[in-house]
Amino acid sequence: MNIATSLFAAAPMHRLRIGDVSIARVEDYHGPGLPGTGMFPALRPDMWQAQQDWLVPHFYDPASSRLRTSIHSWLVVTPRHKILIDACIGNHKNRPSDPRFHMRDEPWLERLAAAGAHPDEIDFVMCTHFHADHVGWNTRLVDGRWVPTFRNARYLFKRDEFDRWDERRPDYVPRESQRFVFGDSVLPVVEAGQAILIDDGYAVDDRLTVEPAPGHTPGNATIRLRAAGEQALFSGDVIHHPIQLPYPELCSVFDDDPVQGLATRLAVLDAAAASGILLLPTHFAAPFCCRIDVAHAAGERYRPRWPAG
Ligand SMILES: [Zn+2]
Repeated sequence: MNIATSLFAAAPMHRLRIGDVSIARVEDYHGPGLPGTGMFPALRPDMWQAQQDWLVPHFYDPASSRLRTSIHSWLVVTPRHKILIDACIGNHKNRPSDPRFHMRDEPWLERLAAAGAHPDEIDFVMCTHFHADHVGWNTRLVDGRWVPTFRNARYLFKRDEFDRWDERRPDYVPRESQRFVFGDSVLPVVEAGQAILIDDGYAVDDRLTVEPAPGHTPGNATIRLRAAGEQALFSGDVIHHPIQLPYPELCSVFDDDPVQGLATRLAVLDAAAASGILLLPTHFAAPFCCRIDVAHAAGERYRPRWPAG
């Protein structure tokens, strides 16, 4: 058993506390993802080989050349509110471009309950952006109609992100992986009167602040948690996979603007390395979150510091 294996066996992080706030991970998917070069076209074999002591097998499977990934929500419970950050893939969604997302029937709501919330208890839903794997559980299918899953929640939608994906606009730029997403996972929330359009800087519960993180999408956001002198950053898809820590120049094929996305990623990671705060991305496989150190090896930029066991 190498060092990484013993760490992961000892510390499957599903729940943590920051000050008086509890955070639980609610899983919709954990396992093989896209081929490495399918996600990051510039990924070279020497990159994962140089990192294989910690990258394999938890984050990368050399036999299949596939990334290992997670798709999860974060349930944030403050003394006053229950807040869901990102809404995963959802059930029964027609997603012809990705078999992993298509017509699922997963017990995510049961996992949410196990994490500590009935859907009716969620006060706020915050989506870092509107990609199919971040808005799916916004709605569920009831008697053939898409209705908000969280009937007592206010859904906080970034105005610029809403405008990017509003397919009713004449300047709408389609993306194949987003087919049907606005219509089945965003618009029904608006029609139910539960959407609030917000801008950067919006604060929820005086502990969470929405910050701009453009590039992956125009309205992409990170969400900063401040509680009892501690901080954490829900970083969404600013960084998809730990291979982007040594090599942040690897850009995802899903980035609307890869150049801006890289600038945002470097800014977030530089700040995280300087401040020592915890990063909570949406797609890191176990143990799901880390702090950031500056790397000392040539050609590498950052290293993850995983939670202690
Ligand atoms: Zn994503």
